[in-house]
Amino acid sequence: MNTAAILQEIAAQVAVCEACSLFHSRKNAVPGEGNPDSEIMFIGEGPGFHENEQGRPFVGQAGKFLDELLKEAGYIREQVFIANVVKCRPPGNRDPLPDELAACGRFLDRQIDAINPCVIVTLGRVSMGKFLPNAKISEVHGKTFWVQDRLIVPMYHPAAALHQPSLKPTVIEDFKALPAAIESARAAGRIITGQVRADDVEEKKVEEKPEQLSLF
Ligand code: URA
Repeated sequence: MNTAAILQEIAAQVAVCEACSLFHSRKNAVPGEGNPDSEIMFIGEGPGFHENEQGRPFVGQAGKFLDELLKEAGYIREQVFIANVVKCRPPGNRDPLPDELAACGRFLDRQIDAINPCVIVTLGRVSMGKFLPNAKISEVHGKTFWVQDRLIVPMYHPAAALHQPSLKPTVIEDFKALPAAIESARAAGRIITGQVRADDVEEKKVEEKPEQLSLF
């Protein structure tokens, strides 16, 4: 099965999933969407009101700002894959609960396996927690980390900058610096033509690349 077909199969399973209580208030599940061959994946927290209405990720105010941020980084939405750690809207946009994250994690893991991106940009604290459980977003935003052979770049959630306008310039700068951070990883020889080098496969520990931090 090719990547697009695997992603469609996952989306079909997400649409009828009843593995946690979020399905009770679901209007539309939001499996994620985008380019199945993207070498970069953006992972948010979970659908909000508009996403639940439309079944598509980041289509509300935060989504409009995400589109601007993608542009700052030199991308358009169709080039990349956008998903969330939970696929159904938590009531009132509360944080997803641990059992909800656990139940939905299998879908996200299969999406990551299928797309096999070399770079994952996490949007917000909750999504960051999947890859960097002990990190503080205020300390690590915009920096780069190797986690299980992928470059993880934790970013503030776009909605955080809308709620706290003083964060906006920081978030924009972090996205502007994203291509340089990725290029630096490429230059270090860790990423070649969208794949992680075979000799990096043994390296499983979380490793911050200090030389890359000087870019920020
Ligand atoms: N916020 C998210 O984290 N994800 C969405 O899809 C929309 C808003």
